[in-house]
Amino acid sequence: MLKAILKEMICPDKCIICSKILESPIESLTCNQCKVQLLERDICNRCGKPYAFHEETCIYCNEEPLRLLRVRALFPYRDLYKESVQRWKYTGIRKYAKGYSELMIESWMEELKRELDVLVPIPISKKRYQKRGFNQALDLANELSYKTGIPVYDVLERCKETKPQSSCKKEERATNIKGAIKVKEVVPFNEGITIAFIDDIYTTGSTVRECMRVLEEEVVKINKAYILTVCLAL
Ligand SMILES: [Zn+2]
Ligand SMILES: [Zn+2]
Repeated sequence: MLKAILKEMICPDKCIICSKILESPIESLTCNQCKVQLLERDICNRCGKPYAFHEETCIYCNEEPLRLLRVRALFPYRDLYKESVQRWKYTGIRKYAKGYSELMIESWMEELKRELDVLVPIPISKKRYQKRGFNQALDLANELSYKTGIPVYDVLERCKETKPQSSCKKEERATNIKGAIKVKEVVPFNEGITIAFIDDIYTTGSTVRECMRVLEEEVVKINKAYILTVCLAL
């Protein structure tokens, strides 16, 4: 890890995805080649996944009803994109959140921001926080807030250690996360708000659904919710 941090510090002007030297790091922290796979056009308005070629309705939404939730992610969770998110989480280097938030604004955040009332980062466990030293979701939420003016409400916490969702089978995920999230701070939300939850990866959505359930039960009626992430498991 130290080696990775040093490498980034010696050469800070590298693309956050592929690590090639950037021509103009002031303008963008991601190279144009890496932007080709951005999930911004021809995506389903609800689940954020790309429409299958020649399909008129989304094949994914039929598999999994999302209720109020809409998903937007920058990249598929694979290859260089997956490695980039892992480097961000394990090195804690702040330029990643800055670079990802730039891409979010460029692709769909500019349009979404008119609808959004608050940004709520998905919490990580205390143990993971101590190990990592930061919550990547809060880091990204702060960058987005800085660029859009939408406030961050860091109101949730993990009150129980759980297995990482990624190591659970699909059917185990909802039970694994149940009761693991609580409201740590009650702030005055307006009734019927639109929330954007922020996280690094979206897989089955069990965690964000649990966050919504807890907020609705204890704090506020949610009108609409988005989950905005860097990567999306396809
Ligand atoms: Zn690149
Ligand atoms: Zn869909």
